[in-house]
Amino acid sequence: MKYIDEYRDTALIQKLKRKIHHILQHYPKELVLMEVCGTHTMIIFRSGLQKLLPQNIYLLSGPGCPVCVTSNHYLDKAIAYGRRDDVIITTFGDMMKVPGSSSSLEKEKGTGGDIRVVYSALDALKIAQDNPEKKVIFLGIGFETTAPTVAATIKIAKEQNIQNFFILSGHKLMPPAMEALVNDRRIHIDGFICPGHVSTVIGSKPYEFIATEYKIPCVVTGFEPVDIMSAIFMLIQQIVETKSPEVQIEYTRSVKEEGNKKALRLMREVFEITDSSWRGIGNIPASGLKIKEKFSSFDAEANIEVEVEKSKENKGCICGDILRGIKRPPDCKLFKKVCTPENPVGACMVSSEGTCSAYFKYAD
Ligand code: SF4
Repeated sequence: MKYIDEYRDTALIQKLKRKIHHILQHYPKELVLMEVCGTHTMIIFRSGLQKLLPQNIYLLSGPGCPVCVTSNHYLDKAIAYGRRDDVIITTFGDMMKVPGSSSSLEKEKGTGGDIRVVYSALDALKIAQDNPEKKVIFLGIGFETTAPTVAATIKIAKEQNIQNFFILSGHKLMPPAMEALVNDRRIHIDGFICPGHVSTVIGSKPYEFIATEYKIPCVVTGFEPVDIMSAIFMLIQQIVETKSPEVQIEYTRSVKEEGNKKALRLMREVFEITDSSWRGIGNIPASGLKIKEKFSSFDAEANIEVEVEKSKENKGCICGDILRGIKRPPDCKLFKKVCTPENPVGACMVSSEGTCSAYFKYAD
């Protein structure tokens, strides 16, 4: 297939649907397939793919939305930095509305904080160049997808000797989170729909341990309905027919087994692996990225002191359980009644990639 329309072709989707139903016609067990990518979550809901599947396949959303998995402690720290007169906070727009323990970046901006929405770390670097009397902090959140561009920006800042540009690194790594979920006895996962963007950077090899050690099949897939239906079909084939778990790539137009070597080199040059705290999952060993000593002059935490309030979760919000796949948005008492995209109580309702937000917009 060459053109994007072909990946939205309803005839092709129906054909895949029939094949999936055919394989599973006598299959007695329930199968749970988890996706760990916010864009996949949104496409699955928006396209109504769950409704095309046999009743014994359940698509479960995991911790794939970067804003959602960012811990309250990280957000509280960003808010505390934003209260300093000598700091400009720069961030992706999705972070603005996320409620922290007692405030949000949007509220802080409303009360005079210099908090600016940018589209990239490079935009933040430009703000630093234009405001040499201020310390400009970029909120580095997200997965392996965004980390290389932040690494590249840090290198540019070093080359240009820019001394008022800093990163608050909250970058996270997806494979360790998937392992944490597999080891969580409260969740059962039969197959992973692996993320497209993350895999464009890391390739498919980092998931191999999930297939070999945990015997759970993985398929890396793209972002159109045909991509996702194809991935489901490939997973079902592995589970029911070949019974031999492996990592397959459906998204061959973007993902190579070995990933993007240049992006990986950049990441490894600037960042080192560290433990990281995920909303709902808690601390996961070796699942985050911190800035290496060589580039530590750009590390906000190493250079700018700040007092951070004691973090607490938002009352009544079960985002953590939703991110682990233990509960669904309708299980939350606040869903649709108090918590809406206009008035989000928790992170999963803020970004369009959040499970609560996708459920709110498309589940009916
Ligand atoms: S509906 Fe709102 S309050 Fe409930 S879990 Fe989702 S984000 Fe949290």
